[in-house]
Amino acid sequence: MICPDSSCGGVPETIRSDGGISHCPTCGAPCAFLLHTEAGWLEPGPALLRGFIPDGASALARGRKPDGEVVVLWFQTYRRLREIMDSSVRFPETTWRQRGGDALEHALLLADLLLSQGHRARVVCGQRHGKPHAWVSLEHDGREYLLDLLDGRPARFPPRAEVLAPHYRATVAFDRTACYFPRDPGNPPARCFDATGWREAVIPPQP
Ligand SMILES: [Zn+2]
Repeated sequence: MICPDSSCGGVPETIRSDGGISHCPTCGAPCAFLLHTEAGWLEPGPALLRGFIPDGASALARGRKPDGEVVVLWFQTYRRLREIMDSSVRFPETTWRQRGGDALEHALLLADLLLSQGHRARVVCGQRHGKPHAWVSLEHDGREYLLDLLDGRPARFPPRAEVLAPHYRATVAFDRTACYFPRDPGNPPARCFDATGWREAVIPPQP
């Protein structure tokens, strides 16, 4: 892992043992978002998006247009929603199999399914109405949508991110390759895919 600021050259030698955001020891820039996984160790968020795709969901989504595919995968994840709180973070396949998890685990599952079908999606962690929360941002046809699995039954298509922006405040986002941090943490962008407002920190593939 190297510092996301190319002019810095800092190399985080050790990662924090208590999870959360690790920072460059030289310039202080955020480098990775680390999670305690159910496997018992810390991994950067992207490492949890391993390409899980359950038979049932892929069969339902197969042959649909991209719009329909998004709604099917969103609904399939929503149907499995049952709140289970524990201290470690489940992998998407566990959340699917056990039909339960917390907001982050459901966001991981949905983002993994969407990414596997070729969509541009990110898991976003932050706050909703001032409380810790996690959701999925999706870029589709040049627009950005916010998929919140704890916000009731899925509609025909997810709401636009701008519409929900006043209630959501992002701290970090990630996909399979990188973590993204708001350049101005005190004023995070309403849109997750707005590249100017985010600092990208590429995470090397895990061994
Ligand atoms: Zn640095």
